[in-house]
Formats: sequence, C-alpha cells, structure tokens
Amino acid sequence: MNLVFLGPPGSGKGTQAKKLAEKLGYVHLSTGDVLRQAVADGTELGKKADGYMKAGELVPDDLIIGLIEEQVSAGKLKNGFILDGFPRTIPQAESLRDMLKKYQVSLDKAVLLDVGEDEIMKRLLNRAKIEGRPDDTEDVIKNRIEVYKQQTAPIVEFYKGESILQTVRGEDTPENVFNALLQVAQ
Ligand code: AMP
Repeated sequence: MNLVFLGPPGSGKGTQAKKLAEKLGYVHLSTGDVLRQAVADGTELGKKADGYMKAGELVPDDLIIGLIEEQVSAGKLKNGFILDGFPRTIPQAESLRDMLKKYQVSLDKAVLLDVGEDEIMKRLLNRAKIEGRPDDTEDVIKNRIEVYKQQTAPIVEFYKGESILQTVRGEDTPENVFNALLQVAQ
C-alpha cells in the first residue's frame, strides 16, 4: 500500500510513520529529514532550504517537487511507501498526483493524524527542550502552526475529494495511535 501522512507539526506523524514503515517493510520518505540532512551536509539544496526552515516557512514547491520526482522516476517509490511531510501544499499534492500517474504508481490512502492546536503547542515546546531542533523555538512553532493551517490543511479537502482520506485520532497514547494506524495502513 502507498500512503501519504498528513498532520500538523507535533502530531507524532514522523515518529509513527517511521515505526509503521519498519513494521510493514515500506519505504519511509520524510522530506523534513531529507532537508535537515541536506543542511547538515551543506549541499546546494541545503543552502537553499536552510533559511526557510529556520523561520518555520515552507521551502519553495519546485525544490521539494524536484526531490520527490527524483525518487519516483528512479522507481524508489513504488510498492509500499509512506510519504511523511509531503505534500504540504495544493500544488505539491497536484504534482504528486500527476507524477504518480505518469509513472503508473497508485496512491491508496492519505492518513490524517488529527491533533488539536493546544496539544500540538504543548508537545512542540516539550520536544524543543528534549531535541533542541532549531525550528522548535516558540515563535517559530507558532509560525509553523500558522503555515500548516493556511497552506497544508487545505490538502485534507483535496484528498477527501479523491476519496482516499482516512482520519486517525492522534490524541491518545503512542501505542494506541500506532495500532489505529496499523489498521488503516495495510
Ligand atoms: P518537518 O520535519 O516535516 O516538520 O519539516 C521541517 C521543515 O522542513 C518544514 O518546516 C519546512 O521548512 C521544510 N519542509 C519539509 N517538508 C516540506 C514540504 N513538503 N514542502 C515545503 N517545505 C517542507
């Protein structure tokens, strides 16, 4: 099964997607992880992405779409994958639909991990203390939540329209969320 994972920052999407992919033997592609690695390696992509990430803004669509298309065209996303953190805008969702069609790859489900705003803020501030991610300061967190609401939340409707949206309640123990995800992901 091929999946995209949707959810606000702090919804637990990254952790759960990774765990689920391991369990099911799927490829896990996190655009956030790829970008953080590119920044750490000082690549061209990393240099271009760094400022946006630090500010909690989205990296321009063409950079991200190029990155995903490389994976699809190389046949790396085919039989069993979870896209985590992509798509994040309507143009990204449309590009993904078009490129998967071009390479005859199906998208089976868009899974929304649903967590309310107060809980997200709490979790992100807590994660900031633990992991020290440079985009986990309070102002940047607020901006990332705003960016999610404005630019990413509309793709929930996009996938409803495609009849592949599944919502999982994310305000539960990590184990319960994982089990609920497991039900929809296979
Ligand atoms: P994440 O780890 O998914 O929270 O992503 C961290 C940061 O990477 C985001 O705040 C964006 O700056 C950038 N990023 C990750 N995925 C995307 C995407 N699909 N489109 C644009 N920017 C992205």
